[in-house]
Amino acid sequence: MHIILLGPPGCGKGTQAKKIMEQQNIPQISTGDILRAAVRQQTPLGVEAKGFMDKGELVPDELVVRIVEERLREQDCQKGFILDGFPRTVAQAEALDQTGTVIDVAVNFEVPDDEILKRLSGRRTCRSCSAMYHVPFSPPQVAGICDKCQGELYQRDDDKEETIKNRLAVYNRQTEPLIQWYAEKNKLRSIRGLGSIDDIYIQICDVLNNL
Ligand code: AMP
Repeated sequence: MHIILLGPPGCGKGTQAKKIMEQQNIPQISTGDILRAAVRQQTPLGVEAKGFMDKGELVPDELVVRIVEERLREQDCQKGFILDGFPRTVAQAEALDQTGTVIDVAVNFEVPDDEILKRLSGRRTCRSCSAMYHVPFSPPQVAGICDKCQGELYQRDDDKEETIKNRLAVYNRQTEPLIQWYAEKNKLRSIRGLGSIDDIYIQICDVLNNL
């Protein structure tokens, strides 16, 4: 199963990708997680990507495409994968096509902008396992500490209000055209990204079971 999760930042793609990964036993490939790890480790990729990420801009296509091409060649991707946060531009989608990868479905999460702002400004992420929490909707048991691995929770720099607004603008301008792109290829299935995590997951299962 080759699945793309499409939608604005904060629409719940990452959370749902982790659920699908557990249930279907296929890896989640989050370009955002890969890039944040590179920034933390100060690799050449991380150094180049950091400035774009801090401003809420997209990292140049050629860098991200190279990461994904390499990741898709790894053994664990041979039985399928979930792309979370990639592609984000039509050029990235074209590059993905050129690898010969056939996508089964692009699941599009529909969430209004005001809801995104509310969600992202309260989001806290674990530095160690990238589990996500939300102040005040789903706080950890102990403030600032991950329930799962006791790692430190932090607010991503790009989850600050001004940057969120820019990320939304970037999404509308550069990523939204992919909705049309996958619709034309009859690969697009849209779901409502509102409600509980389980409600949303049920909609995704419906989509996957009806392919
Ligand atoms: P995310 O965690 O998916 O919200 O990604 C965080 C940031 O990483 C984005 O705001 C971009 O700066 C960068 N990024 C992640 N995925 C991509 C991508 N496919 N293309 C370009 N930049 C990306």
